[in-house]
Amino acid sequence: MTTRNPEFLPVELTSLHADSWTWPFWEAAASHHLKAPRCTSCQEFRFPPAPVCWNCRASEVDWVELPGTGVIFTFTVTRKPLLPALSDVVPYVTVVVDVDEAPGVRLVAQLVGQDPETVQIGQSVRVEWDDIREDLTIPRFTPAD
Ligand SMILES: [Zn+2]
Repeated sequence: MTTRNPEFLPVELTSLHADSWTWPFWEAAASHHLKAPRCTSCQEFRFPPAPVCWNCRASEVDWVELPGTGVIFTFTVTRKPLLPALSDVVPYVTVVVDVDEAPGVRLVAQLVGQDPETVQIGQSVRVEWDDIREDLTIPRFTPAD
């Protein structure tokens, strides 16, 4: 059994409810690739994935591989555990990241590997994949440097 990073939020709090529109994201994540859907008609990224493009109403998408880097758009530091299972991981940081090379694509994830008191909007980050279960890999972010 591998030892989990003590910063990571507890596995038992993670559940996945993928559907046919979001499944390609999780399938790519399982092989440690970050992908987002882009409209084949107008080239707008459509994230979160949706059946119809909000720009041109087309339905077809290409799943585009992205570099896995980005910039913190905003963040919050949780200092009080909202559940007993979180008491060992506070304080923890949740970030909203503007993903590089995909205008409009923002991911919400945990930031690890950095003192919560030093996190800044505009900071460069990169995705790090966490195989939390045999059937589920989730993104987290770490400082890019
Ligand atoms: Zn479109």
